[in-house]
Amino acid sequence: MHAELVMIGTELLLGEIVDTNATKLAKMLREIGLDLYYKTTVGDNLARITAVLNLALDRSEVVITSGGLGPTVDDMTRQAVADATGRALVYSTDLEAQIAERFRSFGREMKENNKRQAYIPAGALPLPNLAGTAPCFLSEDVAGRGFIISLPGVPRELEHMMHSTVVPLLIERMGGAKAMAVRVLRTCAVGESNVDRLIGDLMTMANPTVGLAAHAGQTDVRITAKADSQAEAEALVAPVEADLRARLGVAIYGVEQETVPEVVGRLLTERGLKLGLLDTLTGGEIAADLTGAGCAERLATNLHSLTVAEAVEQLGLPAATSLDGADGKSLAASLAAAVAPPGGVGLALIGPLVGGEADNMTFIAVHGPEDLHMAEMARGYSGTTYVHRWLVIQSLDRVRRVVLKQLESAADW
Ligand code: ATP
Repeated sequence: MHAELVMIGTELLLGEIVDTNATKLAKMLREIGLDLYYKTTVGDNLARITAVLNLALDRSEVVITSGGLGPTVDDMTRQAVADATGRALVYSTDLEAQIAERFRSFGREMKENNKRQAYIPAGALPLPNLAGTAPCFLSEDVAGRGFIISLPGVPRELEHMMHSTVVPLLIERMGGAKAMAVRVLRTCAVGESNVDRLIGDLMTMANPTVGLAAHAGQTDVRITAKADSQAEAEALVAPVEADLRARLGVAIYGVEQETVPEVVGRLLTERGLKLGLLDTLTGGEIAADLTGAGCAERLATNLHSLTVAEAVEQLGLPAATSLDGADGKSLAASLAAAVAPPGGVGLALIGPLVGGEADNMTFIAVHGPEDLHMAEMARGYSGTTYVHRWLVIQSLDRVRRVVLKQLESAADW
């Protein structure tokens, strides 16, 4: 059994509101182990809603709709569900009495147009909506393809309906909730295509599934398993996690919600190391990230918002030092060594350097204890937020690997 969402409302297609209902529904379905295969958004148009519902019933046993249950003429979900499930739309005096009662309890008079909400597909199961006035229902397809559950668009009402009625109903129809185990391994500085090259064969499995999500300088690897009990689901995840760890090694910097600055800050704290920082590129984002991760006290020096030439002068490198792109690696290495506090770590993120083969390139160097060091060309410079984020993650990753004494990255394998 699997599910499909149909989100109804022209304002969703116009980009006027964000579809938070779909996110909530998806999370709730995942929690009970009901697979969600499709989600469609459709405007307030009877023919299109009906067509989408028919397609949904052709491929999914459980269809959940959100929105279009109000009292106005553009609320067409009732008619569309009746048409798609092959039923007449009938007037229910029971529903009318319930709606009238709810209005009375709010101290309001039921209007004539609210009577529209008393229509329901013939034979549908009414689902009590204790948080609002729009009646919800479950309509079985007469052709036996599955059923449609229709919920209000108002987020508070939808959430209430899910918790109070729909989730228990779905669990009963599934013959019990499935347990889900999810593990997120977070990698940095190896690139999505490298991760794919190293673990691609694991991404075709059915249970657990392995999937990737890329952000600037980072790629998350998510393992998801489904089973009858939590312990069984965890047991399915464990060997896949071990396999991924063996393949990705030091490229995995953390798990779940951990961030690169948090992990680097923790490594420095555990080892009692201070970091001297020179960052001519991001206007201080590396320092801000470490500060945001609660590791401000790890910073021995924080040089930013200055040019490479000014850094060379401030850190006392010989006046004749080359600022040419071709010498970028050795310049970054000298600056990292110069900014490192005694016994600590120095990080230099510099550029863009002008001239030579490496014109407009950026460079990262780290100088660590026991003379461990790395110096690399990073990428061409453009002042976009994405490039800044990428450089911050790459720089902190090099600090991490020097501190861990693991200078090779998975991308080199
Ligand atoms: P009502 O009980 O108010 O008649 P309804 O079922 O007719 O509800 P809509 O009229 O489609 O629902 O939506 C009501 C309001 O709920 C919208 O104006 C919007 O603010 C919000 N809403 C609708 N759909 C969504 C959605 N998918 N995500 C977040 N908010 C939504």
